[in-house]
Amino acid sequence: MSFEILNAKALLRPVTGMDTAIIASPRKAYEIVDGRIEPTERVHQDVFTLSFDFARNLGETLHHASWTMTVDPEVLRRSLLHDCEMCRQGVEAGLAHLETRPGQPLLVGILFWAGRA
Ligand SMILES: [Zn+2]
Repeated sequence: MSFEILNAKALLRPVTGMDTAIIASPRKAYEIVDGRIEPTERVHQDVFTLSFDFARNLGETLHHASWTMTVDPEVLRRSLLHDCEMCRQGVEAGLAHLETRPGQPLLVGILFWAGRA
């Protein structure tokens, strides 16, 4: 399951960078339906808020973000698009989470940064 977050105020600016954000899905963020993980309605608002929080904490301006809820280590590995300490550590921590808590999903966000107006 994937979600796109757009920042209407920054969409006309060029994308100048990206980072990967990985967090453990809170239990209230998903339901198990017929054995499948289904994000709850509130996740859309949560990842919207998270995307802007990450941007502010990193001193960046959000351009757009793509979030996926997953238990698949391969999806997590493919999300490492930026080779920095924070992104590498996030993926490593996420892989460890999937190994030690099987079935508990991660929220994996690829955040794209906007250049100055
Ligand atoms: Zn990075």
